[in-house]
Amino acid sequence: MRYVSTRGQAPELGFEEVLLTGLARDGGLYVPTEWPRFDEEEIASMAGKPYTEVAYRVMAPFIGDEISETDLRGMIEEAYGTFGHDAVAPLSQIGPSDWLLELYHGPTLAFKDVAMQILARLFDHALAKRKERVTIVGATSGDTGSAAIEAFRGRDTTDIFILHPKGRVSEVQRRQMTTVLDSNVHNIAVDGTFDDCQALVKDMFNDHSFRDEINLAGVNSINWGRVMAQIVYYFTSAVALGAPERALSYSVPTGNFGDVFAGYVAARMGLPLVRLVVATNTNDILARALTTGRYDVGTVVPTISPSMDIQVSSNFERLLFDMYGRDGGQVTRMMEGLKQSGGFSIDEPRLSAANQVFAASRTSEDDTKATIKKLFEDNGRLIDPHTAVGVFAAEQHRGHRRLPMVTLSTAHPAKFPAAVEEATGQAPALPARMQDLFDREERLTSLPNDLAAIQTYIRKHNRMTA
Ligand SMILES: *Cc1c(COP(=O)(O)O)cnc(C)c1O
Repeated sequence: MRYVSTRGQAPELGFEEVLLTGLARDGGLYVPTEWPRFDEEEIASMAGKPYTEVAYRVMAPFIGDEISETDLRGMIEEAYGTFGHDAVAPLSQIGPSDWLLELYHGPTLAFKDVAMQILARLFDHALAKRKERVTIVGATSGDTGSAAIEAFRGRDTTDIFILHPKGRVSEVQRRQMTTVLDSNVHNIAVDGTFDDCQALVKDMFNDHSFRDEINLAGVNSINWGRVMAQIVYYFTSAVALGAPERALSYSVPTGNFGDVFAGYVAARMGLPLVRLVVATNTNDILARALTTGRYDVGTVVPTISPSMDIQVSSNFERLLFDMYGRDGGQVTRMMEGLKQSGGFSIDEPRLSAANQVFAASRTSEDDTKATIKKLFEDNGRLIDPHTAVGVFAAEQHRGHRRLPMVTLSTAHPAKFPAAVEEATGQAPALPARMQDLFDREERLTSLPNDLAAIQTYIRKHNRMTA
């Protein structure tokens, strides 16, 4: 499989190069030259198969002959062996045709483990083969960072630097990152928002000499390998609920648009999806863009679902590329508009086409809390605030009552205990393997929101230049 940049000006690359490169050199995101397609029989044959088997079948076409079947299957087995549930991503029922897809059984209790655990192994495999080493730099609003650190800790082929917005991640999230004391792990608390952190990482990628000097690599949600790994659970859950014969809908708590874009790819690959609900909190740039056609950057407002507190949704560019007939020039102009004036417009025929699949809604803080409370009262079940945003949005776009509606449950309630306890009076317990999290030693460095200062720190502390 070959990959092209959404801005059309970067070289075409193969899978492993795309994996290690992250952001394309023209500032765009890599996407496959075409979407692989499964016929109905192939999809039907996934029913009842283990998660790891479906993962192999879904990912293999994106990788092509770059990794042997034995190696890929081995990495998949290892990655999902770290999960605390045999099904990896089990479904649970919360209403007559309403389901939660539990994506939080990985080592850091959020769905980002699903992608990161396999990504780290794919990185290691590609780097060992090339006898290379990379410096990973990433921005996190909380969950990506802990998932990445947990997946890459102690690996000899990588140094990892994670920028998080100081004081804006939950204590559990921070401790999951800062209590990992492996020497290849570096936590940087930035005086700023998640978008500031993300902008700093983008600037480092666009600084080509810095990029080459430290062999910079990215594992943020723009990394194609992550999107690819997230396609898998749409297939496992859809076939469990009757696809390809029965169509269904998903509601996806959304920030950077990676998870819901994976759902879009699953549809392009042949899954019969009626609707993909883009569920945002009050940072609703995507809900606005998909209803009005204007993508206008506002200011980030902190919410109780902090992993979705962003205004610039990087992966949306991948959808724009497809919507605009894969015209990199058009995407470049829109992204320039974004940089210069803080926004762009999606024209009417394209917006209507997008709305054939995507629906969107914004959930207020009060509705998020009320949804947590209601599910607890009705079902005795605790959900985290991100999942609650998804459940609320699912209800808004219920549509056809008899078709299954699956909400992606993106985090374990114990990852966001304050909001859950406030809404229900119940304190969700951390799983046994994390019970001593609050007693572990922390290590982190605080730095200003300043590119030069952060670059100096990274130069000093990585094994490429040290
Ligand atoms: C990252 C994250 C999201 C948002 O996912 P995107 O792929 O960025 O849209 C939702 N919920 C939780 C718990 C997350 O960690």
